[in-house]
Amino acid sequence: MRVSTGRANQSDSRMFNVVVEGFGIGQQRQAERVFTVPFSQLQSTIQTIARQGGVITGVFAIDGSSGNGADPMPAPAAETAAAGDAPTPAAAPAVTKAPAHATVPVNTYKPKTPFLGTVTENYSLVGEGAIGRVNHITFDLAGGDPQLEYVEGQSIGIIPEGTDANGKPHKLRLYSIASTRHGDNMATHTVSLCVRQLEYEQDGETIKGVCSTYLCDIEPAAKVKITGPVGKEMLLPDDEEANVIMLATGTGIAPMRAYLRRMFEPAERDKNGWHFRGKAWLFMGVPKTPNLLYDADFEHYLKQYPDNFRYTKAISREQQNAKGGRMYIQDRVLEHADEIFTLIEDPKTHVYMCGLKGMEPGIDEAMTAAAAAKGLDWSELRPALKKAGRWHVETY
Ligand SMILES: Cc1cc2nc3c(=O)[nH]c(=O)nc-3n(C[C@H](O)[C@H](O)[C@H](O)COP(=O)(O)OP(=O)(O)OC[C@H]3O[C@@H](n4cnc5c(N)ncnc54)[C@H](O)[C@@H]3O)c2cc1C
Repeated sequence: MRVSTGRANQSDSRMFNVVVEGFGIGQQRQAERVFTVPFSQLQSTIQTIARQGGVITGVFAIDGSSGNGADPMPAPAAETAAAGDAPTPAAAPAVTKAPAHATVPVNTYKPKTPFLGTVTENYSLVGEGAIGRVNHITFDLAGGDPQLEYVEGQSIGIIPEGTDANGKPHKLRLYSIASTRHGDNMATHTVSLCVRQLEYEQDGETIKGVCSTYLCDIEPAAKVKITGPVGKEMLLPDDEEANVIMLATGTGIAPMRAYLRRMFEPAERDKNGWHFRGKAWLFMGVPKTPNLLYDADFEHYLKQYPDNFRYTKAISREQQNAKGGRMYIQDRVLEHADEIFTLIEDPKTHVYMCGLKGMEPGIDEAMTAAAAAKGLDWSELRPALKKAGRWHVETY
């Protein structure tokens, strides 16, 4: 939230603009609104807005005397709330929006001038008998000028060494960040990724992906060209009481790991001061048990926070769905349709989906069926959730 009240005191006669999102009914809810109130009513106005589920994105003194570098006023026309005319209760459900996007760092380092990070660790995340290779790789970002900062839910770009078939330097590839903004070691200058080595057969030949192979093979102390951060689609809401449903397949777990560390990892909670009290429900889809990523951490969170965390696995080659076929993540979604939609009806609930693009049709189908069972039309509900900033998708 942007706050600029200057040195206000109880006898202050100045007026303030309170910038609000998700407040009011109908069309009003979707627009940013500005309420102008005297200082004497500032506190009660803020409380009323919060009680009604509005998200305050800024508070500004408007007499020009604050002199503390206040942010410029946002564009929408101001509405004036006369004395005692604080916002009235809204009939429509509240919306818990993602944080003010303006404060999220983007493109600190661009492809032409990337940051040179140093690999600090690179280890396998999969167990014996797993299909393919997936590694956890951490880079030290210390010494950046400016420092490469990021928040949970963003991605960074990696430019692999070498040249392509035309002799040109390789282009960057994006990877979802798997660490919180404090990094795995809490030192606030590392970033971690969860990378699957791309490998496929073509004309009888095994082809390995350029960047994913470069990363999975990389040794500690190696220097790597990093760009970004990018992305505002997958940001967590600020609300400590939000509910977060996570649908992940394979490396789509990366942002979810960052969220779950932010929510439940003791050192992280101490540092971030964000004491999550909502419900987090992770649906994780993999082909085999040894392909489960960060499973021990999540099982630990489950023990520590049984009232706040649920963890549902779909292991396609080992479990069967109700029809006797392979158990995919969408089958788990269908199994729990009622509970999922009860949660979604709560305006504090956000849904995050991440993984291979191929997961989208299955999830869409499951949500359509699940919504229909509750008398809801998913084709209408999904865009409404998206518009409310509660439906977050990053597939690749
Ligand atoms: C926002 C975002 C976040 C991402 N996050 C992650 C992440 O967290 N972890 C992760 O591992 N990846 C992630 N990716 C994917 C990543 O960016 C790369 O695309 C991936 O690692 C492959 O890059 P590569 O250089 O290894 O493959 P490349 O050498 O670039 O090869 C990829 C190309 O190979 C071809 N190809 C691929 N599969 C086949 C096939 N079966 N048959 C024939 N041709 C094929 C396609 O032409 C494809 O474009 C993310 C992508 C995006 C956009």
